[in-house]
Amino acid sequence: MGAVLFLMMKNPATPRLLIIAPHSSYRIAPYLQAAENLGVDVTIASAGEHSLISIINKGLHINFSNHEQALSEIVTAAKQTPFAAILGTDDMSVALAANAARALGLAHNPVEAALLARRKDKARACLDLAGVAVPPHQRIELTESITAQLETLEYPCVLKPLAMSGSRGVIRVDDVASAQTAMTRIMAILREVEEPDESAAIFAEKFIAGREVAYEGLLDDGSLKTLAIFDKPDPLEGPFFEESYYISPSRLSSPLQEKITQTVTMACSAYGLQQGPIHAELRIDAEDKVWVMEVAARTIGGECARLVELATGQKLEELVLAQLLGLTLPRIEFKGGAGVLMIPIPRAGILRRVEGTAEARAVPGIKELVISVRDGHELVPLPEGSSYLGFIYAVAGSAAEAESALREAHQYLKIVTAPLFKLRSV
Ligand code: ADP
Repeated sequence: MGAVLFLMMKNPATPRLLIIAPHSSYRIAPYLQAAENLGVDVTIASAGEHSLISIINKGLHINFSNHEQALSEIVTAAKQTPFAAILGTDDMSVALAANAARALGLAHNPVEAALLARRKDKARACLDLAGVAVPPHQRIELTESITAQLETLEYPCVLKPLAMSGSRGVIRVDDVASAQTAMTRIMAILREVEEPDESAAIFAEKFIAGREVAYEGLLDDGSLKTLAIFDKPDPLEGPFFEESYYISPSRLSSPLQEKITQTVTMACSAYGLQQGPIHAELRIDAEDKVWVMEVAARTIGGECARLVELATGQKLEELVLAQLLGLTLPRIEFKGGAGVLMIPIPRAGILRRVEGTAEARAVPGIKELVISVRDGHELVPLPEGSSYLGFIYAVAGSAAEAESALREAHQYLKIVTAPLFKLRSV
């Protein structure tokens, strides 16, 4: 277990950690488990009258929509039980965590960095200024003539919302006509966005052809430690960009992996990030130039964090907490290869059942298969959808073997759906 590796504490008293999380966050449970493994006391600050936080752990009820009030409640709570560190688990709580840590004199990243991770236009502008390679980009203002703006773009390009995640609303287009259709589709998705600033424009950038990798690292006092680089072996060419395979260790050459780490380091310093988890997505073109798709001051999303544990033997959340609390970080070692398949949604409809799971689980190297959508629920593929059908994890002697185990297991799955007819009022 990771805990034994963290016995060397710089601060011998039992530290108390404040975790700020939306009450439905799937990240709360793994962080609580990590804190318990490390012998750290936790207070959770979360929103919602019906939140269960006081039942499962000490809690602070805060209102996320009133930043100032939430901040002052956290500062008041800290007077009674001081916090050694503050962690924001998701994009929406990272800014509040940074502000609260600043108010309490604790180590923190700049508050503005959290905003950059959310806003693609601001992030691109910041990286551009710092000389980090990002695709040429521009905003399509929705209050101006859209056709005139689309006519100025260089094709193929990628259209996307300013502030969404999980590839929602991200569409590759090859000409003005397909761009117009995609704009209509993205504008429909933007109807659910409450922040007017975030729905005032759609972002357009040059399509960068090439291989893609995901990068997972930890910043410690400004120095970046790589945890894993994941290859994405299936081409991501669009028009939609559904994630599928993540395989580690990367089979890219060492110089190229070094270039990837350098690029992420440059991006972190452009954002002013000093510490904590870093998740990045990068593309490598035919000339081996490394382009940043995204750099965020958080961990990899969803169940993928589990892959870091499979790939390195260390629980990602324990590493994050250890760094935050100034504990000695363990050496991270790879054992063979590991991979995850985010099971793609084959078509829209109602999930009836998934067949072949026993056969898939029996494939040598397969460690876990999780179907996260219940039978009877609606499946919504990209670009409108936002979830995966489930995940398959593999561990094998090498990256190539982990990948073939996943591909073999996937072949056994038969996803049975029923069509869904929606009534629309006219
Ligand atoms: P999100 O934050 O929703 O994941 P991204 O902007 O990171 O959105 O894009 C999601 C995926 O779409 C990327 O990982 C990449 O595969 C693809 N993509 C986005 N922009 C580009 C681009 N300019 N060129 C090539 N592929 C892109």
